[in-house]
Amino acid sequence: MRVFLTGGAGYIGSACAEYLLDRGYEVTVFDDLITGHIEAVDPRAKFIKANLSDRENLIKVVKEGKYDAVMHFAAFSLVGESMKNPSKYFNNNLANAINLADAAVAGEVKTFVFSSTAATFGEPKEVPIKEDAPQHPINPYGESKLCFEKVLNWYSRIYGLKYAALRYFNAAGATGKYGEDHNPETHLIPILLQVAQGKREKALLFGDDYDTPDGTCIRDYIHILDLAQAHEKALFAPKSGHYNLGTGSGLSVKQILDTARKVTGHPIPAEVVPRRPGDPPRLIACSDRARQELGWEPKFEDAGAIIESVWKWLETHPNGYSK
Ligand code: UDP
Repeated sequence: MRVFLTGGAGYIGSACAEYLLDRGYEVTVFDDLITGHIEAVDPRAKFIKANLSDRENLIKVVKEGKYDAVMHFAAFSLVGESMKNPSKYFNNNLANAINLADAAVAGEVKTFVFSSTAATFGEPKEVPIKEDAPQHPINPYGESKLCFEKVLNWYSRIYGLKYAALRYFNAAGATGKYGEDHNPETHLIPILLQVAQGKREKALLFGDDYDTPDGTCIRDYIHILDLAQAHEKALFAPKSGHYNLGTGSGLSVKQILDTARKVTGHPIPAEVVPRRPGDPPRLIACSDRARQELGWEPKFEDAGAIIESVWKWLETHPNGYSK
């Protein structure tokens, strides 16, 4: 099976490419390397360095490749940045994604697997969050992803393009080879581990006055290998669908801090600072649909194991991918 995978030099895309290649899929990675890393492109994949905004080129390469599926990881994904620069998010995550959907239709691709997000739900009234919960994003990042879910829905109805919108909760963890290396880093787990590595003096905890048991935000951390597994399963879904992907258990920022302290044996000093704009207090997935319809079974149910996988990756990549 031939898969056209955008964002394969990025965090989740690289892990998914590796997962598919290990299982005998033919993978073409398409990435502009603006935020991705060439070292994260699995050498077994064919690699195309190009940008999704070059519509003609994109349509040409997708048509030529005769792909069975498109997996679309390439996107900007920082809530805070999206609040400062919404145009960047709507241009890349929506306009460029439409180019890709058009290319998939032109290339007669059967299945489109889209990296969507829990941020499409905004501040949910009920947790765990089911797929049909109301979607009212509270930041442009979430809105850009929701808009593209809707585009796919119409493309499925009009062109018969089957799609799966996989709404990741908090992607975390590393494989043996690939891990998280953002510049600047804004995500909680890598930042805590940078403190443990001695690269930062302390961590900042964004707000402890939320309506949660310890006052810090609650998230559902899901390992990237479990996300990769869901992508493979989504290829075989009989029809289009939306799937929330998380472990179903939520951990607060303080609980993650405590777990990181245990895993690393480092005190990881931390200071509470004001809230970060755009952060919902509580995001926990109900993933029953993915389990039942896709046969998805996440293997990493425990935040300790997830953080350990990152700590282990840092042994071989203490500075991420940079030399
Ligand atoms: N967070 C924090 N300090 C940091 C980074 C993140 O307190 O240096 C909090 C953030 O406010 C959120 C949670 O950790 O409540 C997870 O944030 P992250 O950026 O990792 O993922 P997001 O939920 O934004 O996708």
